[in-house]
Amino acid sequence: MTVWDTVVGQGDALDPLISAVEGDRAMTHAWLITGPPGSGRSIAARAFAAALQCPSGGCGECHACRTVVAGAHPDVTIVATEKVTISVDEVRSLVSRAQSAPSEGRWRVIVIEDADRMTERTSNVLLKAIEEPPPRTAWVLCAPSLHDVATTIHSRCRVVTLRIPSVGVVAQLLVERDGVEPGLARECALAAQSHIGVARRLARDPEARARRERVLALASEVRGVGDAVLAAADLASVADDEAKSATVERDAAEVAELYVTLGVEVGERLPPALRAQVRQLEEDQKRRATRARRDVLDRALLDLLSLYRDIAIVQTNAAVALINEGHRDRIESLAERATIGDTLGVMDAIGIARERLAGNVAPVLALEAMLLALRPRVA
Ligand SMILES: [Zn+2]
Repeated sequence: MTVWDTVVGQGDALDPLISAVEGDRAMTHAWLITGPPGSGRSIAARAFAAALQCPSGGCGECHACRTVVAGAHPDVTIVATEKVTISVDEVRSLVSRAQSAPSEGRWRVIVIEDADRMTERTSNVLLKAIEEPPPRTAWVLCAPSLHDVATTIHSRCRVVTLRIPSVGVVAQLLVERDGVEPGLARECALAAQSHIGVARRLARDPEARARRERVLALASEVRGVGDAVLAAADLASVADDEAKSATVERDAAEVAELYVTLGVEVGERLPPALRAQVRQLEEDQKRRATRARRDVLDRALLDLLSLYRDIAIVQTNAAVALINEGHRDRIESLAERATIGDTLGVMDAIGIARERLAGNVAPVLALEAMLLALRPRVA
């Protein structure tokens, strides 16, 4: 299995990357890989970095390939941020690293997985580095679309556009790579709407499937204002728990590491000069937690939206497969009790809630307003 086989369902979209690896003439110093969430941008970036280091163009077996994919190659730096923004200091340190020649590989490669999370000022720091890179340095940026990156940046990059893989391709990947049973693989690929990472989590984690079931159940459980208020609080606290379970351990490890760097014992009183650094880390962690909570909630709303999309399909007799085929009974009964106008109204309410959550509205308030729209209409 070559490194390119890990990027599924892309057809010829990867050709520019592959031909750049094969002949140095087509190589360029700045790349931008775009594609919707779940299309495999970061996997493609790693595959490209591995193929650039590999003596046989990305065999997937050699030391270079394996260390790059594992994120451990000394000449490949991968920036995967869970913070809201990438700081200007971070980019400055990448720029200085980009100046040095590769130590053991053929290229020094710097991958920025969330290039859309840079402010204009930060982009400007990066811009200079991309314009005049040393001969053996390659930058690989990833973002959902061209519009998410400053024009000055993307106009200097060669752009590779990924597409959403089909449900069948994602299901097959789950079966072949993760050993998931084919029926479950297909169900999860459908439920995740081909988002590879989400599909894999659903397939491997029964709790993630249970959480999804709980979200879908809201559609038939919310019957009055009281239900909506309770359900909003419930949904927000599930998101809190999930976000916390994902970050608590790492937060503690980061604090411990910073103390070691500063030469202080954990629990010891910090000299005032060092407090700012600890405070900075704590603020970063708080931002990361906020972002994780928002991502979890947004995923839940997308799940709920998929259920109403299915209801609309049944109501209009459209010849399209249901995303939530396993819930057909519930979908048909909800479809019978409402008009297509009601269903579209709910879908609008979910869309508005997603926008509000992306802004700065308190999650419980945004969720309450949305859940009120789920109440059955009285004829
Ligand atoms: Zn290799």
